[in-house]
Amino acid sequence: MMTQTNPPATGQAAPSGDDENFTEATRIPLWDPEQDDVLVCRQVRQETHDVKTFVFSAREPRAFRFYPGQYMTFELPVEGMVTRSYTISGSAARPYRIEITVKRVPGGPGSNWLHDYMMPGKEVNVSGPFGEFTTDATGEEKLLFISAGSGITPMMSMTRTACDLSEPSDLCFVHAARTPADIIFRDELSLLAAQNPGLRIAFTCSTAAAHHSWTGYTGRFNIQMLSLMLPDFKDRKVFCCGPAPFMEGVRNMLRDTGFDMEKYYEESFDFGAETAGTFDEDPVAAPEISGQTFRVSFTKTGHVVECGPGMTVLSAAREAGILPMSSCQRGICGTCKSKLISGEVDMQHGGGIRQREIDQGKVLICCSTPLSDIEVEL
Ligand SMILES: Cc1cc2nc3c(=O)[nH]c(=O)nc-3n(C[C@H](O)[C@H](O)[C@H](O)COP(=O)(O)OP(=O)(O)OC[C@H]3O[C@@H](n4cnc5c(N)ncnc54)[C@H](O)[C@@H]3O)c2cc1C
Repeated sequence: MMTQTNPPATGQAAPSGDDENFTEATRIPLWDPEQDDVLVCRQVRQETHDVKTFVFSAREPRAFRFYPGQYMTFELPVEGMVTRSYTISGSAARPYRIEITVKRVPGGPGSNWLHDYMMPGKEVNVSGPFGEFTTDATGEEKLLFISAGSGITPMMSMTRTACDLSEPSDLCFVHAARTPADIIFRDELSLLAAQNPGLRIAFTCSTAAAHHSWTGYTGRFNIQMLSLMLPDFKDRKVFCCGPAPFMEGVRNMLRDTGFDMEKYYEESFDFGAETAGTFDEDPVAAPEISGQTFRVSFTKTGHVVECGPGMTVLSAAREAGILPMSSCQRGICGTCKSKLISGEVDMQHGGGIRQREIDQGKVLICCSTPLSDIEVEL
């Protein structure tokens, strides 16, 4: 089972925003995740037929501190309000803008709203950056990035950052797409590989039937392809991101070769899944804070459920058959922010909620356990 690690995947410390030397060169103030929450769209780029990149900056110039691979959480005015996380796809070495690259999901409210309505000049409320899925591709370690679909974004940020800062020392970036027309950042990655000898790129397409000019790997990504691309793959640290079945396939494939899974890191974009962790670690048990059971009432749906010792409000909601949006499940990403109408909770969050939101009675239900009977607006 995949679990999370507290420090970022590489063991680096998370950016704290309190390094006063950070903007010394420009004197542009830092983005303060506790106070600042509005991004303005500056540019929209069509990457493929169903993928767009949105470029944002703050209203007034601000420098964003983030590690490549981190994400931000966006509040989108659709169906009332939905909260969705998007990985910053741009380079951390270009700190004055935030780029996200979004695939349109058929029927999905958030991604369709962004594709249809987000345009230059429009503002959006965000929180973050968050996340622990990161590495320094300019370091000594040999790396292998494996991505599929929109899972390319964290690796793209890590690659762009490494190329901006110096050069990847030994990085192989494998990206799997459905067809050649679905390969995101194909031209840019090819150019970066041409300019940086430490970077190798390989694309695979599950089908290429309609693309007679495609001469690359075709079919589902498999161990034969990987061995041909990279005979030394077992010596590498692997970072993987893509749809859950793809990542499961990669995990099984690597494990079958005897790959040391301590060197495998993955990020899941899937709703409800755990994110940013190594594989094969011990699960972290929820802290047991009291021996009591409390009643949790969900005011929108009318469900009432008993919440046992140590059980989070999110687990109680799921038990009641409600499926609130959530992502990190550790109080970091802010996706599950909800209004506590009455009662008290113990909230052990990891920075995904601001003090002023707590003062307004909001809680992150993934990391909150009841201390009394409670009512939650869900
Ligand atoms: C940490 C994190 C980082 C993320 N980064 C990105 C990113 O860089 N780019 C990006 O496009 N998305 C990213 N996502 C996914 C994003 O948050 C949304 O889930 C996605 O845009 C779909 O939202 P929606 O409201 O349109 O559809 P939803 O209502 O969320 O989903 C509609 C349906 O589509 C499925 N679905 C959701 N996402 C996908 C997907 N990517 N591909 C196929 N099916 C899907 C859902 O399971 C559901 O059945 C990230 C998610 C997380 C948790």
